[in-house]
Amino acid sequence: MMKRIILVPLGDIPSDLIDGLKNDLGLFRLETVVELPEPEPAYAFDPSRGQYRSTMILKRLKSEASVEDLILGITSVDLFSKNLTFVFGEAEIGGIVAVISLARLDQSFYRTKSDNGLLLKRIKKEAIHELGHVFGLNHCNDVHCVMYYSNDLVDTDNKKDDYCDLCKKGVEPFFDNQGDDISRRAGFS
Ligand SMILES: [Zn+2]
Ligand SMILES: [Zn+2]
Repeated sequence: MMKRIILVPLGDIPSDLIDGLKNDLGLFRLETVVELPEPEPAYAFDPSRGQYRSTMILKRLKSEASVEDLILGITSVDLFSKNLTFVFGEAEIGGIVAVISLARLDQSFYRTKSDNGLLLKRIKKEAIHELGHVFGLNHCNDVHCVMYYSNDLVDTDNKKDDYCDLCKKGVEPFFDNQGDDISRRAGFS
């Protein structure tokens, strides 16, 4: 059975953002399902930093997951991991779970006017970046490839919302870019 992508809102995420993301993930050949929202991940809060531990969120999502599915958590709380000041998201490389944060993708974080179109573009890039990790990809040196590591939003805005040719090869089985059907191909080989 083909895996599904399960989108899990962690907290109150505007439905137009969820719908936009679900639509964007149509570029994969996996069905995307939106789950009912879970509460904000209070269990992952670090009071000394005022931020949330992304790794702990991944663990929780994984413990709730069905092995057949891929889980993408989406939250508006600010995430950090290990010694990093913040992260836009985190994923289990070659695994089944990922999480992205909207906090630092939103212009309002930088005290400028919110821009929904720009926010949706950034969400798409971060989501397909983290899903790329779930599909087994590591970071890419091509600054325009979506798998390029974003140190800050300039990197995010500079890269495309797509994989470079090399990375695309790695995610090909999950990608809907050609007519040929992998289940059929597998049946013949
Ligand atoms: Zn990454
Ligand atoms: Zn690449």
